[in-house]
Amino acid sequence: MRTFAKPKVVVSKCMEFAACRYNGDQINEPTVAKLAQYVEFIPVCPEVEIGLGTPREVVRLVSDGEDNKLIQPKTNEDLTGQMNEFANEFLGSIDEVDGFLLKNRSPTCGISDAKVYSGIEKSPVIRTGSGVFSNRIDYFFPLKPREDEGRLRNFILREHFFYSFIYHF
Ligand code: SF4
Repeated sequence: MRTFAKPKVVVSKCMEFAACRYNGDQINEPTVAKLAQYVEFIPVCPEVEIGLGTPREVVRLVSDGEDNKLIQPKTNEDLTGQMNEFANEFLGSIDEVDGFLLKNRSPTCGISDAKVYSGIEKSPVIRTGSGVFSNRIDYFFPLKPREDEGRLRNFILREHFFYSFIYHF
């Protein structure tokens, strides 16, 4: 029987791989589970990697002009620098990758739909944007396919995502 090399896909670790959400949960994500036998997943939880631990106080994106900062309101800590440093190190160390499958709405992993607040506490959402980790993917792998689990619930988007592996692979 012929065997084929598996595409390598970086995946948010909280989806099927570890209970590393801020509240100690793991997400059951059927698409990730189904793909597991066809794909070599590279799971990563950037918030755990920068030492926030699980469970942890929530973090959020806070507008800083045109940029966003990653802030932990409870501690008032600005984690943007640490997260960028980790993302640069992690993404810079990957030789080969064929795509990214990330958790939606996350201020760290979200591709485009993370809430951006006007201030640290009790402030309105003024736009949506990409999480700080996800943002660095644009710099290191601008042409690689990426999707979030929310969008993959749409059959057509899911099919395009799978085909993009074949095209890039
Ligand atoms: S969304 Fe990203 S940072 Fe948040 S728990 Fe999942 S893997 Fe970790």
